[in-house]
Amino acid sequence: MNAVGHIPFNRAYVTGAEFNYMREAIEQAHLAGNGSFSHLCRGWLERNVGTRRALSTHSCTGALEMALTLAEVGPGDEVVLPSFTFVSAATAVVNRGATPVFVDIREDTLCIDHALVEHAITGMTKAVMVVHYAGVACEMSAVLDLARKSGCVVIEDAAHGLGASTGGLALGSIGHLGAISFHETKNVTCGEGGALLVNDERFVERAEIVHEKGTDRQRFYRGLVDKYTWVDEGSSYVLSDLAAAFLWAQLQHVDQITAMRLDIWSRYHEAFAELESQGVVRRPIVPHESVHNGHMYYLLLRDQRARAQLIDTLASAGINAVFHYVPLHSSPAGLRFGRKAGSLEVTDSASDRLVRVPLWAGMSDADVDRVTAAVRSFFGVRPSGPNK
Ligand SMILES: *Cc1c(COP(=O)(O)O)cnc(C)c1O
Repeated sequence: MNAVGHIPFNRAYVTGAEFNYMREAIEQAHLAGNGSFSHLCRGWLERNVGTRRALSTHSCTGALEMALTLAEVGPGDEVVLPSFTFVSAATAVVNRGATPVFVDIREDTLCIDHALVEHAITGMTKAVMVVHYAGVACEMSAVLDLARKSGCVVIEDAAHGLGASTGGLALGSIGHLGAISFHETKNVTCGEGGALLVNDERFVERAEIVHEKGTDRQRFYRGLVDKYTWVDEGSSYVLSDLAAAFLWAQLQHVDQITAMRLDIWSRYHEAFAELESQGVVRRPIVPHESVHNGHMYYLLLRDQRARAQLIDTLASAGINAVFHYVPLHSSPAGLRFGRKAGSLEVTDSASDRLVRVPLWAGMSDADVDRVTAAVRSFFGVRPSGPNK
């Protein structure tokens, strides 16, 4: 521990209104799912993200599982997805008895390389799952064109994407189905939580059934059937209203949270420009049509060794920097259950070289300066005032 204190990699932001809403939920004595706070959150998402139906879930992982159920993915089917992502996407495919087919990412955005998706699609492909890495959009129109030709369902993993958009469309609202995460490490949180965004009308009715353990409970609540019963596949995907009350406080502050994160992101981006021009790091690349949300700041270093040294150096300065993702295609379960399409060189390289620095709403300017100074000094750039 050093005198100036430890800078954690992430710290959940709290707006201050969470307790009041949770107290209200307790007073209403409706703590299970689909209560008044769940409805507020779902309505907010439908209006602000722009989706036909939003369903709050216990996790983004759960929302991805629902999406694959709705896409009728089953044994013998294939789902195309990037290897450079969180494990949830792949486990959701494997839980359906289907095969994840891993493709490489683009050098610039680290999002799925749409040119490679075409080669990965076979007669067995049921869905393409894209990830908007770091809240920066994938090439959605190209992916949607490929899917149209092959009859695949397009699922957007927008776990990083709340508050981000491309061409005026919110991430998660563009494909047939989208998934958002409210995990503690995401921009907006309720601890553990997520949402399924049902953008295509044809999935809405079945989505409500899958969400409620395969029952027509929603139709019962609306008075459309006189009792509810088991009608389809599904599981318990609902978010508790206690968690939704917490989430409701956060959703009302999305704009402020995004602005705070973008401010930190920009400070990093400016401070690391010199290192990029020296060729020792590469900074994130955001295509002009993409409006991101400051979800993370990462640097790509020259090699794995430089990355390990930087993480160690930062750790000894009390700064917690981390890396991700260990490629899925070469992980033990990826080798056992999946198949790779192509060589995945960019994935392997990014996975070795990427480092994420602390970024959270509420992080002080002094802490951001400490991180930038420590990174710059690691590369031999001496601290200097902004005008020197
Ligand atoms: C966090 C994350 C998930 C999983 O979210 P949970 O809400 O924890 O299930 C899925 N995909 C990506 C890309 C993520 O970053």
